[in-house]
Amino acid sequence: MTEYTPVTTTTATKVPTLPDAQTVLDVKHWTDRLFSFRVSRPQSLRFRSGEFVMIGLLKDDGKPLLRAYSIASPAWDDELEFYSIKVQDGPLTSRLQHIKSGDQIILRPKPVGTLVHDALLPGKRLWFFATGTGIAPFASLIREPQTYEDYDQIILTHTCREVAELEYGRQLVDQVKNDELMAELVGAENLQKLVYYPTTTREDSPTMGRITTLIKDGTLFGDLDVTDFGRIKFI
Ligand SMILES: Cc1cc2nc3c(=O)[nH]c(=O)nc-3n(C[C@H](O)[C@H](O)[C@H](O)COP(=O)(O)OP(=O)(O)OC[C@H]3O[C@@H](n4cnc5c(N)ncnc54)[C@H](O)[C@@H]3O)c2cc1C
Repeated sequence: MTEYTPVTTTTATKVPTLPDAQTVLDVKHWTDRLFSFRVSRPQSLRFRSGEFVMIGLLKDDGKPLLRAYSIASPAWDDELEFYSIKVQDGPLTSRLQHIKSGDQIILRPKPVGTLVHDALLPGKRLWFFATGTGIAPFASLIREPQTYEDYDQIILTHTCREVAELEYGRQLVDQVKNDELMAELVGAENLQKLVYYPTTTREDSPTMGRITTLIKDGTLFGDLDVTDFGRIKFI
C-alpha cells in the first residue's frame, strides 16, 4: 500500500518567482561578445516598435539588477526578442550571457522611447544608422509594417568591428525579405524597399570604414546610388 504524506506548509517547497518574471524561450550566441534571446511576452504588455524596457536578474542580495534594453522584436510578435552585448565584467551581462531556455529574467512592463514612428516626419527615404547592438531597435522597426507603408525606401546601415558581428543583422534582413507573414502584411514587393549596408572597421569586408567617414566622403551615397542629405552637415 502506498503511503501519502499530507502536504503541509512546512514540507512544501515554495518555488521562488522573480518579480515581473518572464521565461527565456531561446538563446543564440553570435560571437563571444554578442548574443540574442527570446522571452515570453506578458499578455498585458503593449509597446511601439522601437521602444525599450528595463530587464535584468536578481542580485545575490535579492534586489533586482536592471538595465535598459531595446526590444528587437516588432510590436505584433507574441514573444520578445533582445540582442545583447556580453561585457565580461559588466554587472548584468557577465551573468545574463549564461541564461538558458527555461530560465527566468525580470522584465519591467513599462516600455518607453522616442525611436518610434510617431516621432518621425514623413519623407521619401528612412535611414537607420546602427553600430554594434544599436541595431536592436531597428531590428524591431524593419519588422514593423508601418515602416513599409510610410516610406519608399528604408536604408539600414550596420557597422561593426568584425564580419561575424554583422551576422545577426544580415540574417535578420534576409529573413524579413523572405518572410511570408510580412509579405502578406505589407506586400512582397514592398519588402524590397529595405536596403542593407553593412560595413566593418577592423576586419576586411567588401565595405570597410566608419559610417561617418563613408557619409562625409560620399561613398555611402555613391554605393547606394542615392542623393546625399543635402543641407545636413556632419562634422
Ligand atoms: C535606451 C537604452 C537601450 C539599450 N539597449 C541595449 C540593447 O538592446 N542591447 C544591449 O546589449 N545593450 C543595450 N543598452 C545598454 C544596456 O543597458 C547595458 O549597459 C548593457 O547590457 C551592459 O550591462 P552591464 O550591467 O553588463 O554593464 P554596464 O555597467 O551597464 O556597462 C559597462 C560598460 O560596457 C559598455 N557597454 C554597455 N552596453 C554596451 C553595448 N550595448 N555595446 C557596447 N558596449 C556596451 C560601456 O562602456 C559601459 O560603460 C541600452 C542602453 C540604453 C540606455
